[in-house]
Amino acid sequence: MEGKHDFWVQLQERLVEQCFKSPDSDCLVWTGCTTNGNRPYYGRIWVKMPSDDKGRSYLAHRVAVMCHLRVALGRNDLVSHLCGHSLCVNACHLTIEPLSTNIDRRTC
Ligand SMILES: [Zn+2]
Repeated sequence: MEGKHDFWVQLQERLVEQCFKSPDSDCLVWTGCTTNGNRPYYGRIWVKMPSDDKGRSYLAHRVAVMCHLRVALGRNDLVSHLCGHSLCVNACHLTIEPLSTNIDRRTC
């Protein structure tokens, strides 16, 4: 189990290395690669999860939550920003919503 713990600690270090702390909002603003295309932009980080055969690109804010919880999120766990800053990776500014929550909202 020790190795698994180290995995999340090291991943979080990689994440924080590529951020700066916003002086007025406590946001940890991602400065690394981002998603292409239309706004909002999200941070991207290459990760090889323990369950994966190969590394792949993950959304940085999702990885921030995974590091915080020390567990890999499933596809149905959507991570939303409470602070409205799409490049923020401060786990305190992020919330997990099951996919069904978003679908419910869309049909309301
Ligand atoms: Zn934030």
